[in-house]
Amino acid sequence: TTGAPPEHSLLERRGRTLGSHSPLFYTEPLEIVEGEGVWVHDAAGKTYLDVYNNVPHVGHSNAAVREAITAQLLKVNLHTRYLHSRVVEYAEKLLATFDEPLDRVFFTNSGSEANELALRIARQHTGNTGILISDHSYHGNTTSLAELTTALRVKEPLGPHVRTLTIPDAFGLTPAKEKRLLAQALAEVDAAISSLEQSGHGLSAILFDPIFSTEGLLKTPRGYIEAVAERVHAAGGLVIADEVQSGLGRIGAHMWGHQMYGTTPDLVTLGKPMGNGHPVGAAVTSAALMEEFGENNTYFNTFAGNPVSASAGLAVLQVMEDQNLLDNTRRLGRFINRELRALALDNPRIKSVRGSGLFFGLEIVRPTDSEPDPETTNAIVEDLRDRGVLIGRIGRHDNVLKMRPPLVFERHHAELMLDRVRLALEAQNAD
Ligand code: PMP
Repeated sequence: TTGAPPEHSLLERRGRTLGSHSPLFYTEPLEIVEGEGVWVHDAAGKTYLDVYNNVPHVGHSNAAVREAITAQLLKVNLHTRYLHSRVVEYAEKLLATFDEPLDRVFFTNSGSEANELALRIARQHTGNTGILISDHSYHGNTTSLAELTTALRVKEPLGPHVRTLTIPDAFGLTPAKEKRLLAQALAEVDAAISSLEQSGHGLSAILFDPIFSTEGLLKTPRGYIEAVAERVHAAGGLVIADEVQSGLGRIGAHMWGHQMYGTTPDLVTLGKPMGNGHPVGAAVTSAALMEEFGENNTYFNTFAGNPVSASAGLAVLQVMEDQNLLDNTRRLGRFINRELRALALDNPRIKSVRGSGLFFGLEIVRPTDSEPDPETTNAIVEDLRDRGVLIGRIGRHDNVLKMRPPLVFERHHAELMLDRVRLALEAQNAD
């Protein structure tokens, strides 16, 4: 059959074709039909401030990205087995944002593909298969990533080669307690590595998100990441930073999340915001690791790094530069953080304000006993939608409000967002 009877709603038709398990936000799903900058409009004509979406990194329907894609489409689009200047230009510009020795890039079409490739490189480099992963994380949808997924419902059991770590959260701890937590967390890493060695898998890599966003934007004890990297390297493994969430200026202080720490990963994987919605991903590594992998493999990816995708990626970097978006993210992030902390001071429902740059988390707890309150968190997300602001939620207990707008967010958008968040919290207190 073609088409659908007009009486069937879009939601029904979606269920009949894409299936009812394909997730949607909100009790009443939202149909977005247009967007520009930090604004989106639904099918009924209502406008929302977008404080959720990191894919439209430089703003919805950004003119420079649109024009770069269109101009290239008007010339030619190809697979990647011909020479083309655009992809090289993009690689040069992208790699210039990384520290030594990260000076080579494999382009992919998604974060999943990038992680899949990074794991494959690590496996070949080390001759081992063991993986360390956070016990509440998501890194993609391929078979081997499903085997190490801990934060999303998947049928695959954890692979026998996977060991999970409870990433320590030092938020609000005294220095003495932070030190104890660090020692305890590192003992867990040692035990996991020993377990992999004893079981014959050996250690291939650790894969982690430098800002631990799925976990709820954790604040790891000072020195944790460096000490973990040291242990992983000592056991012969590689360090893979998944920057799909934390990368491309999101945290404001640095272009890449891992640059917060005193250690450089062996591989960095990228995705979501790179093409502003056009599918672009990448795995960045050193010349040494790439050469070694290349001696034994041909990595061919039909669409990855095609001239149109490269044009999208290049335009995003150019807009970031032209509009000083890293600076904007840092400055505006500080302002929002201050305001949110002031809000938390007289609101017992907010246990902590997390994040940096333009990625915030408000940890929502019950005022009576400070226990996680996922129901209220969800009610606030729904209420804010009615108030014309889109946010989400994350965290081990699903009780962290997730605010992560496009980087073209401005002071007046932040003020509007803060005002609506205040009202939504007040409405909860009134209930
Ligand atoms: N890594 C992280 C941290 C992610 O958040 C995601 C997507 N949510 C992925 C990897 C997978 O990326 P993709 O959906 O592009 O495959």
